Amino acid sequence: MPELPEVETTRRGIAPHLVGQTVTGVVVRDHRLRWPVPRGLSGHLVGQTLQGVERRAKYLLLCFSNGTVLVHLGMSGSLRIVRAATPADVHDHLDLVFGNQALRLRDPRRFGSVHWVAGDPAHHPLLARLGPEPLGDAFDAAYLHAAARRRRVAAKTLLMDSHVVVGVGNIYANESLFRAGIRPTRRSDRLTRADCARLVQAVRAVLTAAIAVGGTTLRDFVREDGSPGYFVSDLKVYGRGGEACPACGTALKATRLGQRATVYCPKCQK
Ligand SMILES: [Zn+2]
Repeated sequence: MPELPEVETTRRGIAPHLVGQTVTGVVVRDHRLRWPVPRGLSGHLVGQTLQGVERRAKYLLLCFSNGTVLVHLGMSGSLRIVRAATPADVHDHLDLVFGNQALRLRDPRRFGSVHWVAGDPAHHPLLARLGPEPLGDAFDAAYLHAAARRRRVAAKTLLMDSHVVVGVGNIYANESLFRAGIRPTRRSDRLTRADCARLVQAVRAVLTAAIAVGGTTLRDFVREDGSPGYFVSDLKVYGRGGEACPACGTALKATRLGQRATVYCPKCQK
């Protein structure tokens, strides 16, 4: 599933090719995504110039002067830049055409979605109630500590709650908790301010490293056969249950928490 680093890498990959370009066509081959692709997208977009590509949580925002196209990649979606004449695959559901190139959405499982927002996208129901960005200034130790004290959930559940902070998926939550030395099951109202400070730093470091790895694969986003990479090259605990902890050698424990695979070191993570 595309996580925040993959979405951010997609943003960085497509923006230089498309910002400042004008939409010349919209091709919807299949409206049936998680929610139907809005009818009339072509009427909104043809003739409009793309002003920027932004990201909020795992949504990409294609910003035009008259509104915003919100794209969510769901479970299996990817965006690529192709020559507009490139024949479409059966899973290529939508093209935004910019002259001789096109931004093409491929989504085999069709859990992704495309929305048109005429007003301020920050007020859109999908975005309005989201917590702060993990790499933004609003996500700091004081904020996380206050949020943790208001809840009595496992530390890992806290991190993965998009009302608390967006974009920390299961893999990155496991890795961040290991790096911070905090057991995934620790109750959130027992996290100290210092724990929260380490956790904020860990989340930032893990996501920043994943985005940096993605940065080396940017070419994939413009290659016609490219697909987004998943940045799993340097995982310390995720998927390594039973293996030796990279810090102390103790066998890592694998369990499930909220039905999600959870791995931790029983010695390093208290
Ligand atoms: Zn350990």
